[in-house]
Amino acid sequence: MSHVPVNEPLLDGNEAKYLQECIETGWISSEGPFVARLENGLAQYVGRQHGIAVCNGTAALDIALAALGIGPGDEVILPTFTIISCIGQIVRAGVRPVLVDSDPETWNMDVTQIKAKVTPHTKAIMAVHIFGLPVDMDPLLEIAREYGLAVIEDAAEMHGQTYKGRPCGSFGDLSTFSFYPNKLITTGEGGMIVTDDAALAERCRSLRNLCFKPEKRFVHDELGWNYRMSNVQAALGVAQLERLNEFVARKRRMGARYSELLAGMPGLQLPLARTDYAENIYWVFGVVLTDEMPFDAEEAMRRLAAKGIGTRPFFWPMHEQPVLRRIGLFEGEHYPVAERLARRGFYVPSGLALTEAQQDQVIAALKEVLPG
Ligand SMILES: *Cc1c(COP(=O)(O)O)cnc(C)c1O
Repeated sequence: MSHVPVNEPLLDGNEAKYLQECIETGWISSEGPFVARLENGLAQYVGRQHGIAVCNGTAALDIALAALGIGPGDEVILPTFTIISCIGQIVRAGVRPVLVDSDPETWNMDVTQIKAKVTPHTKAIMAVHIFGLPVDMDPLLEIAREYGLAVIEDAAEMHGQTYKGRPCGSFGDLSTFSFYPNKLITTGEGGMIVTDDAALAERCRSLRNLCFKPEKRFVHDELGWNYRMSNVQAALGVAQLERLNEFVARKRRMGARYSELLAGMPGLQLPLARTDYAENIYWVFGVVLTDEMPFDAEEAMRRLAAKGIGTRPFFWPMHEQPVLRRIGLFEGEHYPVAERLARRGFYVPSGLALTEAQQDQVIAALKEVLPG
């Protein structure tokens, strides 16, 4: 049996043609025309005024936090069940991260826990859409409105998804995307910030480009980053964006097929197909071992690897990160849902190039290695 990788992207549209254009025209830096095309294209797709392309999704989050001017003494509320990218700049900027646990069914931040975490120091809520279903945005936005908080929306996994019919990426004061190869569309490495606020967009552009002063180059009032995206990356992105609707349909078919063929398997919690605000987009197909399963995700992944099936564990919670505990954060804090998801959850091959034959191989392997 051949190996089934956890992710393989689809690059068989106009990718090669647009890359060729970069070579032929000599436009390979961030000054090239594909960058603006990708910025305008994705901004328009999610109904926003401005797009700011950057070198990855983590950089997009770093810039979003800095652009909002959130600093020492301030607090930001975010889910503990997320990727380290969300918290990096919060911690580096001397901002206090305040965590909430996840909902056990959607795996997204439990929005009913947010309000109790708001203090006079709270400046923003970071909403992170996880794996395929969006965060329940209405209650979150209501709290943000009530207390005058900014919203940063991490839509890295959610290109093409909607919440109550409105595009993910349209909810934050600043919303961010990633274009890593396992995301819905890829540029190899890449990311974007989108917003409707012209002043914030300008701040993001400046922070992305070392805060060069337009009128006096090499004189700086502020420290930024070189987080620019190259024209070569953007060329890939433009070709990918042309196929986003097709990719979304493909992910949904794949998720529905996994759900159907794994339904009723003892010991496995499957992703929710839908909530009253969204249909699952199955960015990845995650499973959680229920309590009757006599081993954890690590053991399941080991057994699947022995059968040639690639997997990835779920996120490890922020409050259990050694690097954050070492600096005194989250002492004595517990978030039982996230702790359980981290230990019992993993995802199976679910990239855009996955074939039905490969999917059958994954399903057969799951049925063999998990005692029923
Ligand atoms: C992938 C991802 C990121 C980081 O994006 P990179 O491009 O890998 O830096 C941030 N947040 C979430 C939720 C992600 O899934």
